[in-house]
Amino acid sequence: MLLENKVAIITGAASQRGIGRATAACFAQHGARVVVLDLDLQAAQASAQSCGEGHLGLATDVTDPLSVRRAIDQVLEHFGRIDVLVNNAGITQPVKTLEIGIEDYNRILDVNLRGTLLMSQAVIPTMQQQKGGSIICLSSVSAQRGGGIFGGPHYSAAKAGVLGLTKAMAREFGPDQIRINALTPGLIQTDITGGLLQDERRHAILDGIPLGRLGSASDVANAALFLASDLSGYLTGITLDVNGGMLI
Ligand code: NAD
Repeated sequence: MLLENKVAIITGAASQRGIGRATAACFAQHGARVVVLDLDLQAAQASAQSCGEGHLGLATDVTDPLSVRRAIDQVLEHFGRIDVLVNNAGITQPVKTLEIGIEDYNRILDVNLRGTLLMSQAVIPTMQQQKGGSIICLSSVSAQRGGGIFGGPHYSAAKAGVLGLTKAMAREFGPDQIRINALTPGLIQTDITGGLLQDERRHAILDGIPLGRLGSASDVANAALFLASDLSGYLTGITLDVNGGMLI
């Protein structure tokens, strides 16, 4: 069991077909006690329950410092430790540069980037006391190639910000044995991308992916499992591309 006795928090892990939920299920199968954080309490609890007995679901808005603080206090009260954080909560908006309003910009940056910072700030002191931990930040291929099929330029910017934040934090907290790495998924079949393969762009999309298919949420969950576990014990500050070869 790769995550035996580890407590793992996964943000944005309530969505039915999402990467976060698949990650929670995968971590639970490997022995972790999982904490699902998401906006809606019932959805978070249902997701935690679907992972089996002994897991926790809490309502949390990752953009709100008080909500984040409350959640972390509850996790510590319940489990007494935090070993893994997956900064998965994210939103996108498929618009072009000239269409981005300031409120859209703020919303996309807040959830994807500020949420990653606030959650990391909230767990790092505990990981420092424990002398170790693993933080995994969800970026995107959109950060690497500038835009994409479903993300606007503000989404690319937020996800590129996540890469910079990941590397800066990895450098800062390496001496505390806290490893901090990023995942850059390509096109993963979730609710965000579900419609893409139904339309006329199908062939063009698949032609750009050497492995010839969209990724699955569990493809990303397995990569997160590797980064969460001791198998990646000498990796920090890396970007792991889970994209079927899109950038070759
Ligand atoms: P999803 O929409 O299925 O799930 C995102 C979850 O985040 C939802 O459950 C939502 O309720 C939650 N959320 C939104 N705002 C929140 C907030 N303020 N506080 C707490 N939770 C909040 O998305 P997904 O496709 O599973 O993507 C997961 C992550 O992977 C995101 O960061 C996304 O940007 C990234 N990503 C996805 C793809 C893809 O192809 N699906 C590709 C690259 C990167």
